Amino acid sequence: MNVLVINCGSSSLKYQLINSDTEEVLAKGLCERIGIDGRLVYQKAGCDKEITEASMPTHKEAIQMVLDALTNDKTGAIASLKEVNAIGHRVVHGGEKFASSVVITDEVIQAVEECNDLAPLHNPANLIGIRVCGELMPGVPQVAVFDTAFHQTMPAKAYLYGLPLEYYKNYKVRRYGFHGTSHSFVSKRAVEFLGLNPEDSKVIVCHLGNGSSISAVVNGKCVDTTMGLTPLEGVVMGTRSGNIDPAIMEFIAKKENLDISQIMNVLNKKSGLFGLSGGLSSDFRDLNEAAEGGNQDAANAIDVLAYGIAKFVGGYVAAMNGVDAIVFTAGIGENAIPVREKVVSYLGYLGVTLDKDANGHRGEEIVISTPDSKVKVAVIPTNEELAICRETVALV
Ligand code: ADP
Repeated sequence: MNVLVINCGSSSLKYQLINSDTEEVLAKGLCERIGIDGRLVYQKAGCDKEITEASMPTHKEAIQMVLDALTNDKTGAIASLKEVNAIGHRVVHGGEKFASSVVITDEVIQAVEECNDLAPLHNPANLIGIRVCGELMPGVPQVAVFDTAFHQTMPAKAYLYGLPLEYYKNYKVRRYGFHGTSHSFVSKRAVEFLGLNPEDSKVIVCHLGNGSSISAVVNGKCVDTTMGLTPLEGVVMGTRSGNIDPAIMEFIAKKENLDISQIMNVLNKKSGLFGLSGGLSSDFRDLNEAAEGGNQDAANAIDVLAYGIAKFVGGYVAAMNGVDAIVFTAGIGENAIPVREKVVSYLGYLGVTLDKDANGHRGEEIVISTPDSKVKVAVIPTNEELAICRETVALV
């Protein structure tokens, strides 16, 4: 069957049409600048990208354009919308209501809406995508795949914060974790690829992209992860600070005369690798080039990142009382050779040894530890769209 995978953001929408039998991507692309002006990027398998500037006042026009492109006489990937058998939506926050993917019903929509205040930028956009697809493709089953669901197996000791308990009881303030679709996909694949026993496996997944999170997975179930109530917590990211002393917020607010939303803007948009490099770039490639050219701030930013990852890995080895495999994924994890090398350099105490030649590869599924390493280290490319497609097929 064909599954349309939709990832709806506030002003953008990414899509892929996947044949679930062959797992081949038939077409993919994105709509950008929805509500501003509008641009559709469409690419049929084996063809060049087509870019169309067109008015997209709302997500409805955007999704209609995607459907028109998919069924276009000349360049379409399918003859008609009858060939779209199911739709899988990425939904960012499922709160405590969703521990797995679900077929979308009116009740599900209402429950997702009730999670809106936990992800006020993302969930409303995801819901728009769901409603518009429902209007434009009535009768086609839709599935919601949540970023938070995989982490719902965390025990209370991992998800509770040291705050007054009523904040958890009244407002559900707790660790949720994100990138769950990727952590689930990569940890499962790690067990297969590395020949681990699914019933007796301890895996640490380092998803390192613009947003980064690390998870500890025992026998396929998440037991801890670095992101929290929001994606701001954890390791240093492209522009997000990750963990800081919370008292810094008041200190800087007074020094710079900023209110709480301005402080949050600094922590989300101006910190992390971007902030540490003095505003040079949030992109690892730029920082690496600058560091190689002698820029000490860029070099420090990369060191802060690698050191922080290594500390979380160490923490999760303790949490799981051991580890069988450490896996790198997403843009930095799959490609940034020096980050992997630096992280592994902290793990000698675990008996980890790096195969430098293997680590020289980019974007490939590969073992990067030596055969005698006590813990396997690997790169496994993530594929969140394929994971959403598989979840959708399993439910419809
Ligand atoms: P997102 O969280 O937006 O999905 P990605 O997973 O695409 O992010 O990761 C983006 C990060 O990956 C950027 O910091 C980028 O510099 C880094 N990256 C992508 N390709 C490479 C590469 N070939 N070498 C080093 N870093 C890379």
